[in-house]
Amino acid sequence: MAKLTQDATSIPPEVLAVYEPVIGLEVHVQLKTATKAFCACSARFGDPPNTNTCPVCLGLPGALPVLNRRAVELGIRAALALHLNVQESSRFARKNYFYPDLPKGYQISMYELPLATRGWLVPDSAEKSYVDYNRGGTPLAEIVSEPDLRSPTEAHAYLTALKQVLLYTEVSDCNMEEGSLRCDANVSVRRRGAEQFGTKAEVKNLNSFRYLQHALEFEIERQISVLESGGKIDQETRLWNVTAGRTEPMRSKEFAHDYRYFPEPDLLPVRVSAAWRDEIASTMPELPSAKRKRYVRDLGITPYDAEVLTATRELADYFEAVVNEGGPAKLAANWIQNEFLHLANETGKSLEKYEWPTQAEAAGLLERVQGRILTAASAKKVLLRMFRDGATIDDAVRAEGGTTPLLDRDELERLCVEVIEKNPENAAKYRAGNEGVFKFFVGQAMRASRGQANPQTVNDTLKRLLS
Ligand SMILES: [Zn+2]
Repeated sequence: MAKLTQDATSIPPEVLAVYEPVIGLEVHVQLKTATKAFCACSARFGDPPNTNTCPVCLGLPGALPVLNRRAVELGIRAALALHLNVQESSRFARKNYFYPDLPKGYQISMYELPLATRGWLVPDSAEKSYVDYNRGGTPLAEIVSEPDLRSPTEAHAYLTALKQVLLYTEVSDCNMEEGSLRCDANVSVRRRGAEQFGTKAEVKNLNSFRYLQHALEFEIERQISVLESGGKIDQETRLWNVTAGRTEPMRSKEFAHDYRYFPEPDLLPVRVSAAWRDEIASTMPELPSAKRKRYVRDLGITPYDAEVLTATRELADYFEAVVNEGGPAKLAANWIQNEFLHLANETGKSLEKYEWPTQAEAAGLLERVQGRILTAASAKKVLLRMFRDGATIDDAVRAEGGTTPLLDRDELERLCVEVIEKNPENAAKYRAGNEGVFKFFVGQAMRASRGQANPQTVNDTLKRLLS
């Protein structure tokens, strides 16, 4: 890519350093509804052209829109997850412009009274070279950031975090290849220390993380070189040309910014009662940032590990389930982000399709590692069999020449209860404060298990039963 942006990167670094980029992102995300925003047509991606259409989304005269309640609900979910203010009353407006797949000649959008501060709902008009009305009317949320970002890297991080939240809350599938998540960027530069923003250009068509990063890098350097050569930045809309690796001005007539907005006469204002908002809030999952804090605080893992494990909701759920099944947290954190992800990659097994070892099996493996029943090296071989062949842990251990299946939790519990019941005097001593006697119980339980138990689990179980 460096080669493609050669012209722009000819600016010496000391000149680049004089300027500060100012970036704001407008993200358009397709809401995960079964049907379109204002009619009952399917919003599914990939159906044959023009099969999911009706008089409403074709814009035939006299057809009246009906607002999809689920779309509003998802908009509220997104707003809550992003800590925006959900407005009690919002209103749709007509945004008038011409586009080949916009048969009505206007889009029903939100303008001066959006659903949430900085959260907007607009139905899609697909940008395609041929006309397919299937996509017309799919519900979109527009999420606009303040011009707070100061580098392409920050913009990338912002979009990553936003996508993560939208996936966790199931507001959108965020599939960039299918156009479910798209991004425009407002970019300007100013001399470091200056208070006033420079003139901005809007860069459109950034439908991948890579394009975003490259387009921003290019546009920042382009603006700097214009200013350095004594020129002036035009306020304009530019397109990222993927093939050429540069931003290019759009023909200005194509984007005449006079949409002649007026309130949509065919739709009532949207009312969001406090009760509805609270009901939706009560169904929100724990968000990635809260998860990370909890992992560090309650499970004692590092912030870095917490970051990796919360990258997707599926991975976080898996990790938590392994810990709930008795997997030691630190070991689970370490193994899942290293061995598990590595083997998943190597064997092509998808977590989303439930092709990983079950959480109970994974916990069993890690308990054996913790209890030194398996060395790390043999545990890795066992795990490979579990991933590649879908083997159970017991079969995989046996196949690797091991002989000692681990006692399951119920068996272990029964065995510990037995040991305590057989030794009431020692139990009484321990309960009276003689902690030295605890070792006796551990020894008895380990012997009774014939080495088929994880010492840590035995410890925990006895402590609980004796308390
Ligand atoms: Zn329709």
